[in-house]
Amino acid sequence: MPYLIKGAHVVDPQRGLDETLDVLIEGATIAQVAAKIEVPADATVIDGAGKYLLPGLVDMHVHFRDPGFEYKETIATGSRAAAHGGFTDVATMPNTDPVTDTGAEVRYQIDHGRSAGLVHIRPIGALTRGEKGEALSEIGDMVMEGACAFSDDGHGVQSAGMMRTCMAYVSQFDKVAIAHCEVESLTANGTINEGRASTRLGMFGWPALGEELEIMRDIELCKLTGCALHIAHISTERGLGLVKAAKAAGLPVTCEATPHHLFLDEDDITDAYNTNLKMNPPLRLPSDAAALRRGIIDGTIDCLVTDHAPHAIHEKDCEWEIAFFGTIGLETALPLMLTKLVRTGEMSWSRLAEVMAVNPRKVLRLAPVTIAAGSAADLTLVDPEKAVEVTEDWFQGKSKNSAFLGETLAGAATDVFVDGKRTLIDGVVA
Ligand SMILES: [Zn+2]
Repeated sequence: MPYLIKGAHVVDPQRGLDETLDVLIEGATIAQVAAKIEVPADATVIDGAGKYLLPGLVDMHVHFRDPGFEYKETIATGSRAAAHGGFTDVATMPNTDPVTDTGAEVRYQIDHGRSAGLVHIRPIGALTRGEKGEALSEIGDMVMEGACAFSDDGHGVQSAGMMRTCMAYVSQFDKVAIAHCEVESLTANGTINEGRASTRLGMFGWPALGEELEIMRDIELCKLTGCALHIAHISTERGLGLVKAAKAAGLPVTCEATPHHLFLDEDDITDAYNTNLKMNPPLRLPSDAAALRRGIIDGTIDCLVTDHAPHAIHEKDCEWEIAFFGTIGLETALPLMLTKLVRTGEMSWSRLAEVMAVNPRKVLRLAPVTIAAGSAADLTLVDPEKAVEVTEDWFQGKSKNSAFLGETLAGAATDVFVDGKRTLIDGVVA
């Protein structure tokens, strides 16, 4: 059945589009984009007045916990959260059980994603077997089965020699190595930013240097191997400076940041010990968050990602020291960006489309999606005025551990199309 989206504000920086247009979807592709399209006899018309239509959003850093930790999230429940949040594609990190380090595991993710039928699942394979940092995983096998990138996310690869081998190998497939940067000898036992916050609350610190030192190392290894390097969830101003310098030197280095590192900082952690604010890397200084916000606007940061990290109640409703790291993010990322950066006039819709749709596809070497006839109909329709109360009821995924519970936000996806299939219908997951 064709869909005609009438009169939405279409934003696609790849085509320089920023204007009100009609968009006709037929089958899995966009059939026509024009100022006025006559309604085909059998079409469903969607009123786009006051809404924005973007290339489908991509979250290139999520944890769906499947296989192995299905009590936190499954590919099916994670897909619901993604569709509800406005995403058409998610890249799943390999720290499952078993770790996604063979072609069979990659195929499992893709197959389960297809049967859930709500988003494109783009598996990220492990760099090393079992994410143990000791031996190369089956990278060629995983590429054959559809892995889009490689990472040991959850851990830094501790041995520089091992990381060199990984990058040399990954570069032969023209894939990107995604680095969770953490020198574990510096961060051992750390649960909160080292400095004022760790002193104030009397807890072991996770120092900025633990992240920055590995960013430095991996940029040097990028220089040595030529492998494309993507720094995951960058959290400090100095780390961002390193990436900026690497880019200026012409190295194939990109990076991403999360909403929690952009909009929260260590001062939000009080003696209430809200464990939903326990992250890896930890919330940093207010000045770091401000630098990240500048970086995502000025282009130093390429991609906005959520690091969606679902955990069960018993893993968060406990003492800070033993609580698990991470926050869910798929269903608050777009509302947060709209409320805190777009509505304030600091970020354009076009830049939002770059960091949430265009650039993640580039980094992951996915086919581009443009709002043009012939392109895949992977689209996100956004109502900038839709009120979002972040309560547990807002979340369609299995876990509720959000760092943003209690926020009132404005703006959310109302409709999502994946290969022409309407997966979010006026705010309701299909
Ligand atoms: Zn990570």
